[in-house]
Amino acid sequence: GDRSPVRRFNLNNVTITPDPIENQEVVLILTPMARFYQEYWDNLLNLDYPHELISLGFILPKNKEGNAATAALQAQVTKVQKGPLKNRFRSVVIERQDFDSPITSQDEGERHKMENQKVRRSSMSRARNSLLFTTLGVETSWVLWLDADIVETPPSLIQDLAAHDKPLIVPNCYQRYTDPETGKLAERPYDFNSWQDSPTAQEIAAKMDPDDIILEGYREMATYRSLMAYMADQGDEQHIEVPLDGVGGTALLVKADVHRDGAMFPPFPFYNLIETEGFAKMAKRLGWAATGLPNYKVYHYNE
Ligand code: GDP
Ligand code: MN
Repeated sequence: GDRSPVRRFNLNNVTITPDPIENQEVVLILTPMARFYQEYWDNLLNLDYPHELISLGFILPKNKEGNAATAALQAQVTKVQKGPLKNRFRSVVIERQDFDSPITSQDEGERHKMENQKVRRSSMSRARNSLLFTTLGVETSWVLWLDADIVETPPSLIQDLAAHDKPLIVPNCYQRYTDPETGKLAERPYDFNSWQDSPTAQEIAAKMDPDDIILEGYREMATYRSLMAYMADQGDEQHIEVPLDGVGGTALLVKADVHRDGAMFPPFPFYNLIETEGFAKMAKRLGWAATGLPNYKVYHYNE
């Protein structure tokens, strides 16, 4: 049939509401992926948000490990997209980075060394921005950032977070491990990038070179920020909210309008902050505040 030469979209018709399933809102799940974990994929498939409303976007580094991860991911995507209709996603994009990753190893110890952080997180920012700017569509209502090593979330993650109706919202990222003393399964905080600012951190920043970054979770740099990681309590109030100044990106739900307004992941020190923490700062400058859910947990892979 005839096709109009111009496709018109009224962004006012793309709703972003606390009831995204009822309103048929499209969610873009974005994952930077250095390694493929089957547990991540199984958890993703288990999300009970209608898959026809979920678009997936991945970006992988162009190195040997990235090649292996791409092959594994591609195989799983093919299987799902050719399988039963109800499991199929709306669309899937797999991208390879067009810039080199820093040569630092992907091992947890090496990754987390303080002197590696600026280069590593700058590179992560570029990967996230590249993925975001190539996949954010006119129909996207929500962007869920989900790291490739998040192996366990509630199946209702998307609708649970969206129900809070916040521009940026982060669950608390923990890690399961076996306690060497008791031999029992236990859990500990993993992501320290979700925090409330402190006067000390502000003073550190004030004295810093604008090209330096403040890092969280390092003994050498005591910031006295309040970390969401430590705000979890035993209560059953899963939906308690706390205001945040910095956010981690292991799992992070963002209203697409926040990104459309121009908030991205600064690959350079922005107010002495970088990547996801810089993103929260930039969003705030645009008038969008971040919220955390200390008692709502998602779990990071344990290497
Ligand atoms: P950490 O958990 O804070 O130590 O950070 P990760 O190393 O797990 O990185 C965060 C996310 O980015 C994970 O999903 C990784 O698989 C992914 N990732 C790590 N390095 C790279 C990279 O160089 N390129 C891309 N595209 N993704 C990466
Ligand atoms: Mn990780």
